[in-house]
This record gives sequence, structure tokens and C-alpha cells, in this order.
Amino acid sequence: MIINAEGIVLRQRKISNNRRIIVLFTKQYGKISAGTSITEKGKSRSALALRPFTFAEYDIFKGRESYSINSAQVIQSYYSIGEDINRYMTAAAFLQYLEKVVDEGHAMPALFNLCTEFLESVSKAKAGAETLLFAFIVKSLRMLGVMPETGCCVNCGKSLAEKPAPRMFSVSSGGVICPDCADEERQGGHALIYKPSFDIIDVFRYFETKPLQTFEKVTLKKEDAAVIKEILANYTERYLDADVLSSIKVTEV
Ligand SMILES: [Zn+2]
Repeated sequence: MIINAEGIVLRQRKISNNRRIIVLFTKQYGKISAGTSITEKGKSRSALALRPFTFAEYDIFKGRESYSINSAQVIQSYYSIGEDINRYMTAAAFLQYLEKVVDEGHAMPALFNLCTEFLESVSKAKAGAETLLFAFIVKSLRMLGVMPETGCCVNCGKSLAEKPAPRMFSVSSGGVICPDCADEERQGGHALIYKPSFDIIDVFRYFETKPLQTFEKVTLKKEDAAVIKEILANYTERYLDADVLSSIKVTEV
């Protein structure tokens, strides 16, 4: 059976006989690992569609136990990502993250659309591209069913609206936390609690509600970016087994 899917290349590796395995995130079928003998170095229409940071349409033969890419054509190429080290490192971390969090055969069209928006924005980023990655990750958390609790204390449900900011965020409990519950959690050991100098609830809302393209021109204060990076790195590692932020440098302003 031949299936047709829009997708982006997450990763590829060589196997024998000049064949490669391409791992795609497709809009219609989720993650697919497909073999192909189309070489990336060629100048054919299909070869161009197998390059990194390309949004393309793939004709895939679906066998009983495996997939094979017959042909492909570019829908949009974000080649300018490769021209800047900050954009490139950020987009590479984005692909690693996706490979960890998306499942084989499980379509997530809203997340897929967010991915093409992300590639578009990173290819045009005028500021530290890592801010775009932070925003993408926060937006993805709700789609993946692991959005942290930011409305009230994650442990006792007490409203934190009256409390003066900054509030505490517990990675170990999965959301904002009141001082009493934070003390209790610390006494129990294994607590991973942050008290940033900014309001963490505002930061999550800002990333979740503004369109991704807003962040093309945003570079955060270096100290704040470092804390956000650490919280998101620990959070995604704990709940998605997908920390890709350790290799990301925060841009100086
Ligand atoms: Zn509490």
C-alpha cells in the first residue's frame, strides 16, 4: 500500500547497500521509520526533500513490517537555519526533543503544525533562538498531556493568587507550590524546587499564549533564561525523559 504524508526528517542513519533509515515525524501518522535508497547528496527533487530542516511530502510504501520512501518533494525548505550556529544548535535540539516525545503511528496534527511554525520562526530568528525553543517546549507540554499546574498549589490546591510573586515551582511535584507544601516536600527529601526572581506563572502563560513568531525577536535576560532553561530541562527529563536543553547556550544581551 502506498501512503502519502507530510513530514519533517528527525534523524537518519546509514544501513547496508547504500540504503538509509529516515526517521520522520509526519502529520498523518506520527513518527515513522522508513528505509530509502534516495541519496541525500543527489540533486533530484526527492533528494532535496530528505535534507535536514525541510518540510516535505513523502510517498511511502507500507509493507507488512516496514516502510520505504519511494519519492518526496519539498514543500518548504528552512535552509537559513544552517547558516547560523545559534539557529542550528537550537533546531537540532528541537529535532532531538521531537524524536523523544512523539510516538510511532500516533498522529498529533496540532503538534505537527506547531513544528512547521517553529522551523519557520527559527529560520528568521533575529534574537537568541533558544527563546523560541523554550516557547515551543512549553506549548508542547499541554499537547503531550504533561502541562505543569500553574493555577494553584499543585499539592494542596490553595490559590496562590494572593501571594506576592515570585512564587515557587516544584519540578518534583509538577507545578507551582505554596510555602507550606514546599517545606513539607523538602523534609521528605528528593525535592526539586526553584524560587526564581521572576514570576514563573507569568512566564509559562507568556510562552503558552503568545504566537511562536512573537519570540523571533525576544532575547531574555541571561540570568532569567538560565533559570528557565534549568527548570524546563529538569521538567522535560522527569516527565518526558527528554532533556535536550543541556547543550543549549543562552545568548548574551
Ligand atoms: Zn500547598
